[in-house]
Amino acid sequence: MKALIVYAHEEPKSFNAALLKSTVDTLSGMGMTVTVSDLYAMNFDPVGGKRDFTTLHEPDYFKYAVEQTHATTAGTFVPELAAEHKKLLEADLLLFQFPLWWFGLPAILKGWVDRVFAAGLIYGGGKWYSNGIFQGKRAMLCLTTGGPANMYSPRGLSGDIDTILYPIQHGMLYFVGYGVLPPMVCWSAARVSDEKRAEYLAQYQQRLLAWQTTPVIPFHPLSDYDQSMQLKQS
Ligand code: FAD
Repeated sequence: MKALIVYAHEEPKSFNAALLKSTVDTLSGMGMTVTVSDLYAMNFDPVGGKRDFTTLHEPDYFKYAVEQTHATTAGTFVPELAAEHKKLLEADLLLFQFPLWWFGLPAILKGWVDRVFAAGLIYGGGKWYSNGIFQGKRAMLCLTTGGPANMYSPRGLSGDIDTILYPIQHGMLYFVGYGVLPPMVCWSAARVSDEKRAEYLAQYQQRLLAWQTTPVIPFHPLSDYDQSMQLKQS
């Protein structure tokens, strides 16, 4: 079994770095082959555009998804992206490790999704959601926050964490077919005690040990929607 961890933190002494190291150790200890895309270390360019391709199919009118679809068959993704595609397609488990920034992914990781989840290769032509190419595979978010858990409850000041993560968990991961495991959220990572952080590391290790058996978030399959893409009346 193979895991790909996409990691978005620049500081080797950070708690995100500690979570990453623990993840690599735990999954390797389970006999998995673990690959890390350390986006800052790779100096990953998060801006999707013409630079993604060695040649353009329709240079007179640039349409990103059209070019991605063409590059899928023509083999014209730049080597940086071809390498990420290979890692992603081989992985049975995809993990995103990141600090919550402005209620979402840090730009370097959002840009990784923009550029790597390419039309034609990763989605399109009816391959989406429960019919997505990664069906049968699993993905999970592990994130740190500045704010405490009660701030992210349904009645909390920042709003429900499940709603905040919905664009990532449903709109990105489930969109391409993954079964999405409940997220590991390390609340207020910089403000809690060393003991609490040790607890987070231990909790996450248990979550990783159970990645194949933990129930995924029950998003609706395509068959629950009607022709107008609305949930059928039950
Ligand atoms: P660090 O500060 O690097 O680490 C925390 C502590 O863990 C440090 O004391 C470190 O020494 C210690 N540590 C390191 N290794 C270990 C170990 N092995 N064991 C125990 N302790 C260890 N927060 C929100 O809630 N919502 C937002 O929308 C939001 N937006 C942000 C936007 C930006 C641009 C920025 C910069 C921050 C934002 N934040 C937000 C805050 C951010 O999410 C937190 O600062 C971040 O999650 C903290 O994680 P870290 O890994 O950077 O912590």
